[in-house]
Amino acid sequence: MSTLRGASTFFGCETLNRVSFLREEVEFIKSSLTHGSTRFVPFIRGEALSSNGSLYSVRLDESQSVIQPIINKLLPIINTSASRLRNSGVNLTFLGLKQGEDLREGVFVYRSQYKGTPYYGIDFHVDSGTLIKPSDIGPLTKIPLLSRETIFEMDNEDASIYSHAKMYLDWLSKYHFCPGCGSPIYPVDAGTKLQCSNSNPEVSCQVRDARVTNVCFPRTDPVVIVAIASRDFGKICLARSKRKYGDAVMYSTIAGFMEPAETVENACRREIWEETGIRCEDVAMITTQPWPYPVNLMIGCLGVVDANGVNEVISLAHDQELLDAQWFATEDVNKALEDYDGDGLVRFKDSIRLPGTTAVAFHLIQYVCDKYKTRQSSL
Ligand SMILES: [Zn+2]
Repeated sequence: MSTLRGASTFFGCETLNRVSFLREEVEFIKSSLTHGSTRFVPFIRGEALSSNGSLYSVRLDESQSVIQPIINKLLPIINTSASRLRNSGVNLTFLGLKQGEDLREGVFVYRSQYKGTPYYGIDFHVDSGTLIKPSDIGPLTKIPLLSRETIFEMDNEDASIYSHAKMYLDWLSKYHFCPGCGSPIYPVDAGTKLQCSNSNPEVSCQVRDARVTNVCFPRTDPVVIVAIASRDFGKICLARSKRKYGDAVMYSTIAGFMEPAETVENACRREIWEETGIRCEDVAMITTQPWPYPVNLMIGCLGVVDANGVNEVISLAHDQELLDAQWFATEDVNKALEDYDGDGLVRFKDSIRLPGTTAVAFHLIQYVCDKYKTRQSSL
């Protein structure tokens, strides 16, 4: 089974080199945070800011009146419990180095070989009791917030940087206490790990005392999303979701959260059977997509069904999550995709919409159509 080679799904374009091994070096954090070329992507209470229909970001040396004084206040408390959100009012997370700009004068260079523009996400939850005060971020609060609609109209590079920052900052803003002992936790490694502050050796903490690590890592929730096709790709099963688009309804692939101790393939088989009653043995992964609502990874798969009078029969009686599921002729779906101009949703029949290019479901449906066309042309 081939994958979608070379193509990035929306939110899945890796424009920054994460250099994850450098995040634990305090010298790296401090030198990158203070370099004039470093670019900050500000969020206010988890919401990014908008600049002419795109993601707002600002270089340190362009923001002497706003970001620089904030960084100066944060530098002394990096990797200490004073940097917790409730004390500082700020979460900061290193995103990576933007490379391909090595020749520009004044570029950030670390240990003579890691070059590029450092990117940080910075999220403000300030009040009168936090180290950073509301007055410190005054000019940022005048910038409009980035709407969900604008996010899906941005170019994929900006959307992917947004998604990357959003997922780390969302995690940092939600987790305040150690799951092992209830002590406060604080960010380390440039905001990519959370450390337990319990220093009392007589109080046991499964997180702090674990043999492998004493920190908490960010979470990513895996979701399987699967296109169901007949063995000859002549039919595709799509399911109706609850959302409406004017007078039209949406049909798409089915999806569900993976459960512990499940393989991707078994999660697909389970979701297919639970939601549609269809029995499908043959499952393969096609492509994946980070999805920052809030911290999902969509694992896009294809399920191929061998029709035998039983396997392909649709039943919505099991978990009753779907309003409807139907087998459609791939020929008709392919026609709808060929008429699609790439903007917004795909118009399929008068009253049905299919997901557009920003959704991994679109690529899975297109994959089935491509398989169908290849098969037709070889007959
Ligand atoms: Zn603990």
